[in-house]
Amino acid sequence: MIKIEPKVPYALVVILVAILASTAHQAFKDLSSQEELKADLIKKQQERILELEEGMAVQDQELLLAKSQINAIEISLGLKQDVQVSLQTRLNLALKSSKDRAQMLKLIPSGSPVIYKGISSRYGYRKHPVTKRRALHRGTDLKANIGTPVYATADGIVESAHTVRGFGRLVELDHAYGFKSRYGHLSKIAVKKGSVLNKGDLIGYSGNSGISTGAHLHYEVSFVRQSLNPYWFIKWEQDNFDEIFAKVKRVTWDQISSDIALKDSDRFIVLSDSSD
Ligand SMILES: [Zn+2]
Repeated sequence: MIKIEPKVPYALVVILVAILASTAHQAFKDLSSQEELKADLIKKQQERILELEEGMAVQDQELLLAKSQINAIEISLGLKQDVQVSLQTRLNLALKSSKDRAQMLKLIPSGSPVIYKGISSRYGYRKHPVTKRRALHRGTDLKANIGTPVYATADGIVESAHTVRGFGRLVELDHAYGFKSRYGHLSKIAVKKGSVLNKGDLIGYSGNSGISTGAHLHYEVSFVRQSLNPYWFIKWEQDNFDEIFAKVKRVTWDQISSDIALKDSDRFIVLSDSSD
């Protein structure tokens, strides 16, 4: 009988098997922990995506709100709405434009100097109610009770505040860019020559002094010594801002508005816009 002798000793086989089993076990353990790690990462990623989506939904809503607000500003300013232009640029234009407009309305006579009950005489040629001579009526006559407060219609300096023939107690204000305003037939003057005024400051009280046929304020606006129809200046405000440019042609509006815009850009910080 032939006995086959094993080539490898039995003990060595046992050791080898044990090593293999241990390695396999370790590999299996590593693999399962990697799987756990992977699952954990996927879960975290999904949570992050959810967070981002929620954030984006909030931003979308905020963006919609911002868009509708800018739309409203543009409409109120009468600006052309250009959806091709970035939202930031549109906002800059609206902000800048509203600041320029406010500045212009503060420096140039705008709004009524008095709470009035109607216009008793308009600007233009007429037969004078007292002298009966045909002459240019350089002002707008605003009906107001004696003693009604009269306010400066723009920032300026008091050029004169005294009694003159015809106009009675008269205040003349000197404004920026060659504009002047005059307030006649006052019952009382509240300012002195040389006083620096802000728009809206009290200058006196309406009355019937001088050559006048009833209680009213005679109000004039002029530009480099040329009288203008004050009516358009009385009506001038943010809502109808552009109207005056068509109605009053004698003023160098373009130069004035570009000068104000230039100074405005120095004074105010304009939001930067990286998209243009
Ligand atoms: Zn008058």
